[in-house]
Amino acid sequence: MTHAERQAALEAIAAEVRVCTNCRLAAGRTNAVPGEGSPDTEVVFVGEGPGFNEDKQGRPFVGRAGGVLMEFLRSVEWRRDEVFITNVVKCRPPENRDPEPDEIAACAPYLRRQLEVLDPALVVTLGRFSLGTFMPGTRISQVHGTVRTVDPATGAADATVLALYHPAAADRSPDVKRQSFEDIGHAPRALLDSRERRAAARAGTGDGDREAVAVMAATVAVVPSDAVEVPLEEVPPASDLTIF
Ligand code: URA
Ligand code: SF4
Repeated sequence: MTHAERQAALEAIAAEVRVCTNCRLAAGRTNAVPGEGSPDTEVVFVGEGPGFNEDKQGRPFVGRAGGVLMEFLRSVEWRRDEVFITNVVKCRPPENRDPEPDEIAACAPYLRRQLEVLDPALVVTLGRFSLGTFMPGTRISQVHGTVRTVDPATGAADATVLALYHPAAADRSPDVKRQSFEDIGHAPRALLDSRERRAAARAGTGDGDREAVAVMAATVAVVPSDAVEVPLEEVPPASDLTIF
């Protein structure tokens, strides 16, 4: 798929999400939050569901947890607009309660389709509900900071998953936050390893063009260098926002 095709496909999914009434969360939302980021990225972050600020703005991780996620990204020299950020449920659960299994199931086709379009090399899960999709049957306390191969049934045909605690949990606990900086520190290596595995799997198939990405000494670029950058609004500083 070309950049324009991926962008159009992601926009089509987002348009469906914005008017979706497939589960009870539709009733309480102000705005659905389809997700956002670069259509050309190799890295997708998957959180739980929109909170107060996300519901107001229709954008993922723009509240306090978003500020922490931006700290994680900065620590590996990745920018918000060069990854893709979304959630397992696209509408805010009332009072930020946990999403119910039937709500997650109802919303799952949107995430699956986003992953089919993006074909990421690396999925980073944020918290246990996202973990449940990509490393089912595991416990976050045991697998945070570790990687696995993703089940293609998720929509990510050939990806590695790295498990992280939810940024809101890191915000509540200095120990979890310290641990999370260590865990996200594995992301660049996990991306490089995944890229290598994908390149080997695709060698000779003529589908290796997205692997031709410059790897700088200190950092690992997550968008192919020839990709068109789509500027996103700056996320307001966390200090301006209500804690969700
Ligand atoms: N928490 C999440 O899991 N997702 C968001 O988008 C915001 C907060
Ligand atoms: Fe539709 Fe997902 Fe929102 Fe439920 S949470 S209404 S399935 S977009």
